[in-house]
Amino acid sequence: MKIERIAIGGLGMSGSYLMRRLADSGFDVTGFDPKVPDYYIPCGYATNINKLRQYMRKIGIDADEYILSSASKITFSGHDFRPVEFGSMGLCTFDKNRLERDMIAGLNTKRERISGEYDLIVDATGVSRSYLGEPESDLLMPAREYLTDASDHPDFYFHFFQGGKGYYWEFPLGDHFHVGAGAINLDVLDANLKPVPHLLITGRKIRLKPLLDQVYTENIVGIGEAIGTVSPITGEGIIPSLRSAEILFQCMKKGEDREEIVKDYSREIMKGFRHYNDLYNLLIKVQKGETFHIRDLKSAMLARKDLRNFGIDFRITRVAKHFLS
Ligand SMILES: Cc1cc2nc3c(=O)[nH]c(=O)nc-3n(C[C@H](O)[C@H](O)[C@H](O)COP(=O)(O)OP(=O)(O)OC[C@H]3O[C@@H](n4cnc5c(N)ncnc54)[C@H](O)[C@@H]3O)c2cc1C
Repeated sequence: MKIERIAIGGLGMSGSYLMRRLADSGFDVTGFDPKVPDYYIPCGYATNINKLRQYMRKIGIDADEYILSSASKITFSGHDFRPVEFGSMGLCTFDKNRLERDMIAGLNTKRERISGEYDLIVDATGVSRSYLGEPESDLLMPAREYLTDASDHPDFYFHFFQGGKGYYWEFPLGDHFHVGAGAINLDVLDANLKPVPHLLITGRKIRLKPLLDQVYTENIVGIGEAIGTVSPITGEGIIPSLRSAEILFQCMKKGEDREEIVKDYSREIMKGFRHYNDLYNLLIKVQKGETFHIRDLKSAMLARKDLRNFGIDFRITRVAKHFLS
């Protein structure tokens, strides 16, 4: 079936980017999102500017104009290691709300859930996966975040909880900070994130399970966190969500038939994000307290690559004891 009319449900990072990409190429696309303007969706706003630039260039946006703070040193600490500093490979925070707004400026958007008839519905609703529906199995981690004007560390700071149970972060935002944590359950979260004086507090669950084999039904296809394009190690979801949106765009540009497009997309997503399955298995192994073997070296190297992609010049030897004990 030929795709004439497209609806995108969810205008966060992935949906807004895909909408701009499709509209610029002449597709008939309508965007839906019931959120009120500037609604503060919980997110640390941290990303790798070098990667963000590559995507924004494709839609004529200068990513550098949105930077709030650039990392110079990134500190990692854990339950059994003293703080270790790493250099930056592009880690920064950026004004995500403004960028999302600008990506869809002037396009056909509606502040409501999807209504009407469309040949293709794109589920870009993040953790809620509103249109694709509940997956067969999932791993959702509760997270809470404060917007505050002071923090203990002036630069980017991560503290990893024992046994892969989550981590605490402090990210500078120009004049403010994001201080937050994601943890395996609310007890661990409460124990590790004490209330701080704040301007705002937000929270939601984050999807850590890649759902790479559940990315479409007949006329609905998912992108972003809806299909689990979130790093199981860092919780990084911004660049991976943009990447999934770009993959779908490329499949739509080269294909005509809906069935072929979604199948092609599903294959490409599996190819592009297969390493998330390995990282997910690594996370579960750490959480179960299982012993590491030499065969786990591949996953450890993938974790290193994942952190470097996030913009952190991560050296595994400096923190191996924590992650491998
Ligand atoms: C506390 C926290 C901190 C995080 N920090 C970072 C970070 O620092 N860096 C990073 O890279 N990632 C971070 N992430 C992950 C990242 O924010 C997400 O993975 C990423 O933004 C997902 O983008 P998305 O477009 O898939 O979904 P979202 O950005 O979540 O957008 C989903 C959109 O769908 C809309 N929606 C919901 N239901 C419907 C519906 N029925 N119809 C239409 N629209 C609907 C919502 O209003 C929303 O606008 C964090 C996540 C959490 C929870």
